[in-house]
Amino acid sequence: MWFLDYLFPKYLNCVICQRHLYEKEWFCNLCKSEFQIQTGYCCKYCGRMLLKGSYPVCNICKVLNRYFEGGTSVVVYDDPVKELIKAYKYKNKKYLAEVLSEYMHLRFMHVFGDIQLDGIVYVPTHEDKLKHKKWCPAEQLALQLGHRMDLEVKPVLKRTRNTPPLNAIPLDERYEILKGAFTSEKVDGRYLLVDDIITSGNTLNECAKVLKEKGASEIYILTFAASE
Ligand SMILES: [Zn+2]
Ligand SMILES: [Zn+2]
Repeated sequence: MWFLDYLFPKYLNCVICQRHLYEKEWFCNLCKSEFQIQTGYCCKYCGRMLLKGSYPVCNICKVLNRYFEGGTSVVVYDDPVKELIKAYKYKNKKYLAEVLSEYMHLRFMHVFGDIQLDGIVYVPTHEDKLKHKKWCPAEQLALQLGHRMDLEVKPVLKRTRNTPPLNAIPLDERYEILKGAFTSEKVDGRYLLVDDIITSGNTLNECAKVLKEKGASEIYILTFAASE
């Protein structure tokens, strides 16, 4: 099946629910209508929707020792979006980077359109994982965004070790696990840091930290989804 998928990536089934589609679309209207777009009062650092009282910073970003100046995200990481991200990252639908990055680009321009960036960086996949997977999900999003925004993508970040998936790890332990897990080459200027999702923000923050240590002046983060 993956072979057909590779030859005809836009074959006519919704990538989320597999329902048959009658036009060249990625998702059916039902799945699309279930996307919860981050809108209204949003955290200025991660883009999560907020209750009016907690504006302008969410409770998760409030406790981060933050190394990025701002950020945004397109949708809430709930069930249909989990399926979409799973299809992209784990069912090898690399071509979905095109549509995900389209949403991300529009979102970024809407929130931070007046920011002049010097380039794009991304959260890297560890080399051991690349041996099996062959491609890095965040890098593909960054490359697509690079085309759309006419910015250079700089592969300056590297993982020094493979870290376990963070979703099973308590929030207060994530910082320790990620400490020293990334290095960066020297950089200067203002960068957009890209990943597919933000949950606790610890991974993106650790990347922002090493970029700042290596000379970046400002970091903005952009993800497709943010957890609730
Ligand atoms: Zn669907
Ligand atoms: Zn936040």
